Amino acid sequence: MNTDKRKVVLIGTGMVGMSFAYALVNQGGICNELVLIDVNKERANGEAMDLNHGLAFAKSNMRIYAGDYKDCKDADIVVIAAGVAQREGETRLDLLQRNTEVFRSIISPVVKSGFDGIFLVATNPVDIMTRVTYELSRFGASRVIGTGTSLDTARLRYLLGDYFTVDPKNIHAYVIGEHGDSEFVPFSQVMLATKSVTEILADEKNDYKIEDMQSIEEQVRTSAYKIIKAKRATYYGIGMAITRIIKAILGDENSVLTVSAKLCGEYDSKNVFIGVPCIIGRNGVKEIVELSLTDEEKEKFQQSKTILDDSFNGLNL
Ligand code: NAD
Repeated sequence: MNTDKRKVVLIGTGMVGMSFAYALVNQGGICNELVLIDVNKERANGEAMDLNHGLAFAKSNMRIYAGDYKDCKDADIVVIAAGVAQREGETRLDLLQRNTEVFRSIISPVVKSGFDGIFLVATNPVDIMTRVTYELSRFGASRVIGTGTSLDTARLRYLLGDYFTVDPKNIHAYVIGEHGDSEFVPFSQVMLATKSVTEILADEKNDYKIEDMQSIEEQVRTSAYKIIKAKRATYYGIGMAITRIIKAILGDENSVLTVSAKLCGEYDSKNVFIGVPCIIGRNGVKEIVELSLTDEEKEKFQQSKTILDDSFNGLNL
C-alpha cells in the first residue's frame, strides 16, 4: 500500500458517492487524490468539474478527476457506491440480485488493474454486497469492508445523547447485525462515560425508562425508511460515515467503528459479513471486538446472521 500518496477511487457517483466526495473535500487533509468512476461517464466528468470548482474554498488541495478502472492500480482504497437506490417500501434485501450484477461489472476490472488496497462497500444490501465483493475479488477478509451499521450506530449515539442530554461522543453504544430490519442494540453494552445504561435505568432516582430505549432502537431501525419516504433517498449521513471510515484507515487510527466484516469464529459465527465493532487501521480490519452479549442478544445476533447467510446462499455467484 502507498504511504506517501493517499489515493481514493470512488465507483458510483450518485447521491451517496457524491455526498461522500463532498464530505471528503470539505473535511480536508484525508487524502490527496480522488478519482471518480461511473457507468455514466458524463456524470462522473460533471461531478469532477463541480468539485474542482469548489477547491479554492476547501481546507486543503486535492487532485480530483473522472477516471477509469486502470486508475485503481495504485489506489489505497476503492469505495463502491454504485448500484440502484432503495425504493420506497422496498427492503434492502430486494436490491440484492440487481446489485450483484452491477458488482460483477465492477470488481473484475478493479482487480485486473492490479489494485492492492482496501475495498469499502456502501451499496445495499451492504453486508451481502461486501461478501459478494470478497468472493469476487478473492482479497483477504481484512481488506474488504462494508459500511455496515456505522451510520445506524451514529444515529443511535445521537438519539441517546439527546435523551440523556450528554454529548454523543461520551455515549458508547453500538448497533450490530445486518444493516437492515434485523439489526439491534445490545443494551447490556451501552455505556454513558464508564457507567452502564442498565445501571442508570435501574436507579429509581431518575426518570429514565427502559421503554424509551426500545423506542430509540425502533427509531434507529426505521429512520432510513422515514428519510426515503420524505426525500426519496438517504445520502448525507452515509457520505459522512464513509468519510469517517476512510479517515480511520488512511490515518491508521485504530478507531472502533461498526463496519461489516467477515467473522472467523467471533460471535460463534463464520464466513458471514455483518456489522460488528472493529478496530480499523491502515490495513483495514485489525481486530473484531467481541462484545459480551446476553443470551437474548446472542439469539438476536444469530437470527440476523441467518438472514444474511440465507440471502447470500440464494445467490448464483
Ligand atoms: P444513485 O442512483 O444516486 O447512484 C448510483 C450510481 O451508480 C449512479 O450514478 C449510477 O450511474 C452508478 N452505477 C450503476 N451501475 C453502475 C456500474 N455498473 N458501474 C459503475 N457505476 C454504476 O444511488 P444512491 O442514492 O447514490 O445509492 C447508491 C447505493 O448506496 C444504493 O445501493 C443505496 O441503497 C446505498 N445506500 C447505502 C447506505 C448504507 O448505509 N450503506 C445508505 C444509503 C444508500
